[in-house]
Amino acid sequence: MTDDLLARHQAVLPSWVTTYYGDDAIELVSGSGRRVTDANGRSYLDFFGGVLTNMLGYDIAEVREAVERQLATGIVHSSTLYLIRRQVELAEKIARLSGIPDARVFFTNSGTEANEAALLFTTNHRRSNQILAVRNSYHGRSFAAMAITGHRSWSASALSPVSVSWLSSGDRLRGRMKGLSDAEHIDAAVEDLREVLATTTSGDVAALIAEPIQGVGGFVHAPDGLLGALKKELDNHGILLIADEVQTGWGRTGDHFWGYQAHGVQPDLITFAKGIGNGFALAGVVGRAELVNAVPATSFSTFGGNPVSTAAGNAVLDYVLDHDLQANAKRTGTILLDGLRAAVGDAGIVGEIRGRGLMIGIEFVRPGTTEPDPAATLRVFDECRKGGLLVGKGGLYGNVLRMGPPLTLTDDEAREGLAILVDAIRTADAEAF
Ligand code: PMP
Repeated sequence: MTDDLLARHQAVLPSWVTTYYGDDAIELVSGSGRRVTDANGRSYLDFFGGVLTNMLGYDIAEVREAVERQLATGIVHSSTLYLIRRQVELAEKIARLSGIPDARVFFTNSGTEANEAALLFTTNHRRSNQILAVRNSYHGRSFAAMAITGHRSWSASALSPVSVSWLSSGDRLRGRMKGLSDAEHIDAAVEDLREVLATTTSGDVAALIAEPIQGVGGFVHAPDGLLGALKKELDNHGILLIADEVQTGWGRTGDHFWGYQAHGVQPDLITFAKGIGNGFALAGVVGRAELVNAVPATSFSTFGGNPVSTAAGNAVLDYVLDHDLQANAKRTGTILLDGLRAAVGDAGIVGEIRGRGLMIGIEFVRPGTTEPDPAATLRVFDECRKGGLLVGKGGLYGNVLRMGPPLTLTDDEAREGLAILVDAIRTADAEAF
């Protein structure tokens, strides 16, 4: 059944909308908790959560009931021309959590649009279309969001509405930051920023956009404090900071509610998406009022912040806070990280096991080198599926296995997934020698 659907998918959707698992693509037909079932009746433990989007997992009663209550009113959509109670409530909560005084929240349907809005606010405020972005980043698929995406396979267009200068990524296995200590890395990054500002910009740059931990780029993270150090230099030039928290927000990193908090910095704008809707299309940007309000024309988004998605968003956010899922992410993430390091940390194909909370990446290399090994990564990825575990792939070289399970993951589920991962890695490692 899935075979036929794959052929139909390939015949009618764009060739670049690709699916995982080759000819054996999965159609998910039901889900509960952290488990999903495919069209062949096979059940999987889900460690990727629809790319970190099903943040609470599947069929969460509180979210379902909140959405059903809204649907029962008959108002699926009204328009921001009318007051939307759930939108206001959610905006109040996000503004409070943002750490930004007198914050304004603008809701969109996707992370891409949220980043577009952040570009609009900052370029408008600074009267400059110059943007600093980070190599190996991902910020979305619109014209401008692609232009600030520093990852070749996701940034197809060379034509760009913004003028972008690139900062070094946090990759510590290769490139200019290879082998540096945290302090050296931060110094080198600040030096790099100064050099970029002096050489490839006219100085009046609008903003730096950065992911606190690069998601699509393979969960690459620079040392704590780096964004704070960069911000000091940015402040000398009046350059704004946009934190793209699409993957790192809502407590996923375990140590903090927002990823930027590990950097000792307060961004001017924060973009969010994915997990906040737990599957409903909900995203947005929260920022300083003077930036957000200053857009020169009246504007709205037809579906942005609609009654159904914001009903879901309130239920999701309340759930995260009421159940302290940040602490859960920390605890279960530690089980995974420690377990992986102990069991396969010295496997030849494992170049690095890194992560924070429930955002864990394993980078695969050719044994004894830092040369990326996408084939070994694929082998582990396929073995995981065979063992009943869904994980993700990513990284500039396609050699990073990515885990971003729902934040509701239990200790037992963490151990169950860990065992499958360890078996898969050992199998691939044995073949590499
Ligand atoms: N920013 C980051 C960090 C992302 O990971 C993504 C999606 N992968 C986006 C922006 C774009 O979000 P969306 O797909 O909702 O447009």
